[in-house]
Amino acid sequence: MTTITQTLEQQVIGSVPVQLYIAGEWQGGANGTLAVEDPATGEALTEIADASPEDATAALDAAVAAAEQWASHPPRERGEILRRAYETIIDRADELALLMTLEMGKPISESRGEVLYAAEFLRWFSEEAVRIDGRYAVSPNGQMRLLTMRQPVGPCLLITPWNFPLAMGTRKIGPAIAAGCTMVVKPAKQTPLSMLALASIFEDVGLPAGVLNLITTNSAGPTMATLIADRRLRKLSFTGSTEIGRELMQQASGTLLRLSMELGGNAPFIVFDDADLNAAVEGAVLAKMRNMGEACTAANRLYAQREIADEFASRLAERLGSMKVGRGTEEGVQVGPMIDGIQRAKVDELVQDAVGRGARALVGGAALDGAGYFYEPTVLADVQASSKLLTEEIFGPVAPVVAFDTEDDAVARANDTEYGLVAYLYTSNLSRGLRMIERLETGMVGLNTGLVSNPAAPFGGVKQSGFGREGGPEGIDEYLATKYVAINPTPGEEKRPG
Ligand code: NAP
Repeated sequence: MTTITQTLEQQVIGSVPVQLYIAGEWQGGANGTLAVEDPATGEALTEIADASPEDATAALDAAVAAAEQWASHPPRERGEILRRAYETIIDRADELALLMTLEMGKPISESRGEVLYAAEFLRWFSEEAVRIDGRYAVSPNGQMRLLTMRQPVGPCLLITPWNFPLAMGTRKIGPAIAAGCTMVVKPAKQTPLSMLALASIFEDVGLPAGVLNLITTNSAGPTMATLIADRRLRKLSFTGSTEIGRELMQQASGTLLRLSMELGGNAPFIVFDDADLNAAVEGAVLAKMRNMGEACTAANRLYAQREIADEFASRLAERLGSMKVGRGTEEGVQVGPMIDGIQRAKVDELVQDAVGRGARALVGGAALDGAGYFYEPTVLADVQASSKLLTEEIFGPVAPVVAFDTEDDAVARANDTEYGLVAYLYTSNLSRGLRMIERLETGMVGLNTGLVSNPAAPFGGVKQSGFGREGGPEGIDEYLATKYVAINPTPGEEKRPG
């Protein structure tokens, strides 16, 4: 990567279209503009368009108008558009990584990782576009022929969060385009620039007007409610907090909208005394500190078997204590700022609550002074079961370590949460690993790894972490509806089913 200078930062920001993208045109928002901030400095980077509910309806109008034609567009060509977008992202990875770091704060190396991960969803679904099939069967009594086909669900609304500004978009946009759906995309207002850059890439690689429409808004509630109530919308895919997910489900009941919900997590990270401790510590650093802990998959509760709990906690504290905190554009920085002051205050409140109940900070435990929203990487030992951070999503660089005794104890603690996204497990005993995996109430498990995300695998949760899967062969199913056709091969001889 070339040296990051202020001029380069300005060039990258200046290259992003900051308007609404509707029916293939860039246009202003009826509500004026809103600022996007650099969380490392608290200063404004640029202004983006602020859409009204009427703007959002215009975006849905465009998606509806393009729907029929796009549904019948040759799958190979849909796939090739995705492939060209994938290649463009790879070519422009450094610039997109810088853009992401500026708006979201994560270190540049992590942004680069997310850009590649995001692009990979487009490559994966470019390959899936030509594999949408159905089946043909003879009915059990031999009288009928049963044909099934899979068709695009229709216009979709895709709402994404700020923590992975590009990947949370491509995970939805990739399969939607591959399936033949049109869409309105609504990124988080804090990190809209990566998605605006993506929309412009799709425009450049020849995605027909109206297939992808993008709106940014300062009034997500009323603006999204307008679209969700619109009978022409056929699908909502939401990634965000469980709280907003519940609200959207209620709204969606009005039209029985088809839903995918990728919601919050509270991942347990379980280390048995037979585990490779070095590997477990490194896995914990990855599972906890990726994205400064602002990930739905972040290890939220670290359970170590009693015999090794102190050793695990002190080694983890040593690793986290040595991590370089700073603006993500700076050389060697491993931990960037929190997204904003509200998020940082929430993290600190959870830490102070745990300390107030008897936890000890082995390292960190406070916000950093100065500009930006930085928080010290923190490891807490002797965390009491009543501490709020064991039941709430921390979403920050804080690792509470708790000792457990037996497999049953570990399972009971791990499952004692309303969430069920992912669990991490470290053991060298395969039988124990399999027993534990079957008993953990989560949509995903990492066995001896601190990273589960993979575009070729089905990402998603159970319980109040939501439903639906993104990535893998399963990912495209969310955007397809099965139609069954009953065929009578001998029309004159209609019989009762049997
Ligand atoms: P959030 O507050 O729920 O916001 C997510 C998105 O929903 C944003 O685009 C937001 O827009 C929009 N939104 C907010 N209120 C809305 C409303 N009333 N109606 C319609 N849309 C609304 O979540 P966040 O703080 O951005 O993201 C963090 C959460 O996402 C965490 O809980 C994390 O675990 C979860 N997450 C889950 C996954 C997964 O795959 N399971 C992945 C990543 C993140 P504004 O920006 O305008 O508020």
